[in-house]
Parts: sequence; C-alpha cells; structure tokens
Amino acid sequence: MVELAPHAVSAANSRGRRHPEPQPAARSEFQRDRDRVVHSTAFRRLEYKTQVFVNHEGDLFRTRLTHSIEVAQIARTLARALSLNEDLAEAIALSHDLGHTPFGHAGQDALNACMRDHGGFEHNLQSLRTVDQLEERYGAFDGLNLTYETREGILKHCSPKKAPELGELGRRFIEGTQPSLEAQLCNLADEIGYNNHDVDDGLRSGLINLEQLEEVGIWTCHAAEARSEFPQIGGRRLIHETVRRMINSLAVDLIEETGRNIAAAGIRTLDDVREAAPLAAFSQAMHAEHKALKHFLRINLYQHYQVLRMTNKARRIISDLFGAFMEDPRLLPPQYQQMARNDKPRAIADYVAGMTDRYAIREHRRLFAVGEI
Ligand code: MG
Repeated sequence: MVELAPHAVSAANSRGRRHPEPQPAARSEFQRDRDRVVHSTAFRRLEYKTQVFVNHEGDLFRTRLTHSIEVAQIARTLARALSLNEDLAEAIALSHDLGHTPFGHAGQDALNACMRDHGGFEHNLQSLRTVDQLEERYGAFDGLNLTYETREGILKHCSPKKAPELGELGRRFIEGTQPSLEAQLCNLADEIGYNNHDVDDGLRSGLINLEQLEEVGIWTCHAAEARSEFPQIGGRRLIHETVRRMINSLAVDLIEETGRNIAAAGIRTLDDVREAAPLAAFSQAMHAEHKALKHFLRINLYQHYQVLRMTNKARRIISDLFGAFMEDPRLLPPQYQQMARNDKPRAIADYVAGMTDRYAIREHRRLFAVGEI
C-alpha cells in the first residue's frame, strides 16, 4: 500500500461515524464506505438516471452510474498520485450523485421550484439525506452510517440558509473553511468527467459536430496531436484519441498544480488543508481551456433545442407528479404515505427524487394518461 501523505485523511485523523461501530476486519473504514455505497439501492438507481440525455434516448450514452464510475476512476488516479486516501476518494466519487432527481438539472430545478415554500430542494443535500437517512439497510440505524469524511465530500455545496441545520458538517459553509483534499479533487474529477463525456455523447448524438469543436482550444490541440501520430485516423477513433488526451492533460495538470499549491502553502496536516484556501486547482492556463470547453457545451449542447425540448418535458413531468401527490397523498405508495404524515412535501420530494427517468415517465403515465393503470 502507498504511504499516505501526512495531510491525507486516514483512519487516525478521521472524525468517525455517527453511530460507533467495531472496526472492519479486512478493510479500511473508507473501503467499507465505498462498499456500502455500491450495495445501496440509490446506487443501483443511477443506472437509469441521466444528466443530459434521457435514459431511453440511446443505449450508449452515459448514465449517472457510468458517470460515477468514470469520476471514481479519475479521482483515484488523482488521489494516488498525490499520496492521498484513494479509498476515500472512490467512496466520495461513487456517492456524489446519489441524490439527483430524474432528468438531471431540469428535474432538480423543477423539484426545487415545487419545494419553494417547503424548504427547497438541493441535490447535494439530497445525496447526504440518502446516505444519512433514506437507505434502509441496517437494524441499528437509518442510512449507511458513513464516515464524516465521506459525508463531507458528498456535501459539495450547501446554501448558507441550510448550513446551520447540518451541525458540524455545515460549519465550513459558514466559516469558509475547506473540506479534505480528497473531497476537493473529487469535485474537479466530476468536472473532468462530465465535460469530456458530454463531448463524446454530444458527438455521438449528432447534436454537436467536429467542425463546431474546432473553436475549442483544448479539443483542437489534442485532435491535431492524434492526427499527427495517426495520419489516417478519423471517425470514432479520432474522437476517442482526442477525448482520452484531454482527460489525461486535465488530470496531469491538476495533479501538478495541486502539488505545487500544497508545497507553497506549507501544508503539513489535515487541519492545515481545512484552514487553507482551496488547494486542488488547475493551472491558470488549463483553467481557461477548461472554462472555454464548458462554455462551448453550454451554448451548443445544453441549450440545443432538442435538449431543451426534453428538459422542458422533464420539468413538466416532475411538477405534475409533485402536484398530484400534494393534492392527494393517498396516491403515494404506503411507505411514503407513512412518511408524509410527518412532512408531506418532504416525503413527496424524497419519492420523486428517488425515481429513475423511466420510472418517472411511467408514473406520470399511470397518473395522467386516460386508459392507463
Ligand atoms: Mg457528477
């Protein structure tokens, strides 16, 4: 096993679990977290949830499950290269999207609008709620009872309004301190993952094309490199040779710049990491390249009229479902009716957020289509 840097998260400096448990016999505490996430129901649902393309649009597009696996792969590379806790990075990466609604950001915006007068809906908070409360797998506690450090990494953002309700975990959003380096890197691994696979999926779908990508610096330089190494290359192979070079250059740059930041700030302990300014970062030049790629995707893919048609429909499905259950909670499955006795809107939000894309579409049909049961 690689020796951990003194500022890495370790069993020795971990703040532990909310419900104390005996140490695992053959695994680290963070491997145990990773394993609990992989065995959870919410994790399996990721297979049928999407970010940009809706699940039934094609079999080859990324789902949140394959996205999470790609992010975990990048995060582990980053963590290992910097002598950080690879198991923790993997646990955070695999759980970072657990609280997402069906239909990606359109679904989350719609559910947040529905919950406006009932405390709102934030997907990061919902991921935490999933692992802390909603999973029903253990006799002794609700949720998965993950370590503080995995939970801290899952809670990437949190509004200042919500932070005080979260106790120790919310404190950093009030005090402006940072999470572990493992958590900071997972956040950027997520961005590397989705920007690059959205290029790949975008091209596959035909919504963007190679000519348009010529305006993106990071694409053109790596495509030129691939062409000079393989002059005959074209089609899917050119796309994959270019995308893999982009991912690699972003990851290597991130490792180098983060290493420099750690050294320059004189970081020695995990507490130093928490007190310092954010340490995980791209170099300035790479940051600009990455931003240009994001901008390209926003204009050309996320705002493409065919994507907007789908997201618009998604928004309507989510608000219809929420409205129908609010009006008559007896339409909810019994388990959620039970939960609705304490807090009706939150129970409905939990039910709707847990749906996969196809389940939400089916449920909408069951509730609204005449002739369906
Ligand atoms: Mg993600």
